[in-house]
Amino acid sequence: MAISAFDLFSIGIGPSSSHTVGPMKAARMFVERLAGAGLLDATAAVSTELFGSLGATGHGHGSDKAVLLGLTGSRPDTVDVDTADAQVDHIRRTGRVTLLGRHDIGFDERRDLVLHRRRTLPGHPNGMRMAARDAADRELLTRTYYSVGGGFVREDSDDGAAAGIVADRTRVRFPYRTAAELLTHCADSGLPISGVMLANELSWRSEDQVRAGLLGIWQAMQECVRRGCEREGVLPGGLKVRRRAPGLYRTLRADEASGDGDPLTVMDWLSLYALAVNEENASGGRVVTAPTNGAAGIIPAVLHHYHRTAPGADDDGVFRFLLTAAAIGVVYKECASISGAEVGCQGEVGSACSMAAGALCEVLGGTPQQVENAAEIGMEHHLGLTCDPVGGLVQIPCIERNAMAAVRAIHAARLALHGDGAHVVSLDSVIATMRETGADMKVKYKETSRGGLAVNIIEC
Ligand code: SF4
Repeated sequence: MAISAFDLFSIGIGPSSSHTVGPMKAARMFVERLAGAGLLDATAAVSTELFGSLGATGHGHGSDKAVLLGLTGSRPDTVDVDTADAQVDHIRRTGRVTLLGRHDIGFDERRDLVLHRRRTLPGHPNGMRMAARDAADRELLTRTYYSVGGGFVREDSDDGAAAGIVADRTRVRFPYRTAAELLTHCADSGLPISGVMLANELSWRSEDQVRAGLLGIWQAMQECVRRGCEREGVLPGGLKVRRRAPGLYRTLRADEASGDGDPLTVMDWLSLYALAVNEENASGGRVVTAPTNGAAGIIPAVLHHYHRTAPGADDDGVFRFLLTAAAIGVVYKECASISGAEVGCQGEVGSACSMAAGALCEVLGGTPQQVENAAEIGMEHHLGLTCDPVGGLVQIPCIERNAMAAVRAIHAARLALHGDGAHVVSLDSVIATMRETGADMKVKYKETSRGGLAVNIIEC
């Protein structure tokens, strides 16, 4: 399967790529399929059932809201985040939803949007089943979707056979699945990892388009940090988690102005960037999925750090950073998973840390071997990390965890840069270990909020 940087980095809506972005895309895919089959006008009711992790934590992750917006035709990259809540309130208040913005039907939430807290579908922990019926209650169309992480959606085949990924069969110049194959391409071509990834991207778009697209992603990351530094208040959902980024931003600016020479301030800035992104994400704001929403703060934080502190940092460095991060992300997608519901938080925060570590290593002058080493260190020390979001919200431990992982990514890049690229544990071995550890992990630690912190915090 060919995977582009733009599959791994997409502009979306918080708080979750698998629970918000994926369900919104799936709901839109369903009504588009109805329209494509000429069935939209005959549709009198659409029902959606959410299973597995989507059913268990869907309310906290905004999956219900995402489905409603998707039915109206909204897309994660363009939905107006400032009016989304009002649109959903309108549907609930009026009991009507306008499919694709052009066909109005009745909507009864208790009947038409069911979250199964303990039922799962066979294809993946994040399952969705949708059905459309006509005015005589005859079934018009049913489909099953799986939100497999990072906003990727898999659709069941028409005959109800087991779900399969609709693979992109584009032939890229340097096909690879593993880090070893990626390094072989670098050795044979003399290109850095970013160069191999760029050559592959040219299978879909021109270099100018790739550059403009990735710098657009960088722009969206910067806007997300800016908004996160400005918006005060308490995050939605009932945990009463106060936004910390605005206060930290003011403190750091004041310290800077007073000439406070604390050498560890660099860590505080890094934390600030990650907190700002993840607080925006938790409030349903516009974020870049990188490669998931729960872990959306790590890559932007490390990229801001590079842009602000590295001598000679420029847009070309940003471009190479994002290409390298994506090249590493491809290996995670191909050989394991980036879904917390499938392998726990090691697949979300661990993968993002690994991608950021390798990317920083390359733009600071690392060889492909050092980049692979940095990415390996970034994951090795996240192995076994569980996903146990308190209250089913992407807040505790997710927000702070991104700040911690951003610091770890820089640590990993610097450790690798001080070596010569030779090391004992390969990136491929650590990714295989992550996949196996995820398979052994109990379901209660995989985005169901039935274990870990989610059941052990003291209620105030
Ligand atoms: S604990 Fe990790 S995997 Fe789970 S929702 Fe939070 S960031 Fe995502």
